[in-house]
Amino acid sequence: MAIDYGISGHVAVVTGSTSGIGQALAAALAEQGVNVILNGFGDPAKIEADRRDLQARTNAAIRYHGADMTKPDEIADLIDYAVREFGRLDILVNNAGVQHVAPIEDFPPEKWDALMAIILSSTFHTTRAAVPIMKAQGRGRIVNVASAHGLVASPFKSAYVAAKFGVVGFTKAIGVELARTGVTCNAICPGYVKTSLVEAQIGDQARSRGIPEDRVVEEVILAAQPNKTFVEYDHLAGLLLYLVSDMGASATGAALSVDGGWTAT
Ligand code: NAD
Repeated sequence: MAIDYGISGHVAVVTGSTSGIGQALAAALAEQGVNVILNGFGDPAKIEADRRDLQARTNAAIRYHGADMTKPDEIADLIDYAVREFGRLDILVNNAGVQHVAPIEDFPPEKWDALMAIILSSTFHTTRAAVPIMKAQGRGRIVNVASAHGLVASPFKSAYVAAKFGVVGFTKAIGVELARTGVTCNAICPGYVKTSLVEAQIGDQARSRGIPEDRVVEEVILAAQPNKTFVEYDHLAGLLLYLVSDMGASATGAALSVDGGWTAT
């Protein structure tokens, strides 16, 4: 029997939810009866088909807003859209992210700027817009999808690691700032999940290191993950549902690892 987390009828915005982890987290919320605003890039026909499919197989109303996470005005409108559509906002999942892998001396400045904007600054802009709504409701849940790379580093990922450490720091600051408001803010720090973002890294790492792709998976990607297994979407969804339920009320300002032991080493 599925667990009831008591969040049916709540409203969530999940950034970067047209694929991968964000799409899976949005589905997990919708399956609990949470009305969800999807966001992210992709083929408009596929985005619309996925939106309809999720709405049809859950008891939730599913909407889509195409805000670009590099554009503060569009981000503000995404949060406002939740209130326009549903009159409230209970859950904000900051998940949108991109990766670029290169040695520092070759790292394109425009890639640095893009990663900082999409991963770190967007989290500031969404949170800034969402907090007044959540404070007025006396309850809210902000969950930032950071990374094991928000806690430890790897070579060739300077922008990603810097941005994710920033997200973890921001999570702590907002957690303590809002500690008496009923609004919590936490970060989930996954190890490797086999999404398109990771598939692309396998190729990039092979080029950077000059080794074949199968060796990258074994010796590079999962080298740091003691359980030698990709993290599955359900493992992240379970933690998200705990955090956004009433059971998660005392967890705030935390960076929670779901990484097969990676950051324990
Ligand atoms: P993904 O590429 O499948 O999904 C990324 C999502 O972000 C997509 O919906 C994409 O359209 C969206 N996006 C990208 N740029 C955007 C922009 N400018 N504006 C709006 N949306 C934008 O990747 P994923 O692996 O599912 O990654 C999701 C999050 O999880 C990222 O923050 C990533 O850093 C983090 N993460 C991933 C892994 C992993 O192993 N895959 C591990 C730890 C953390």
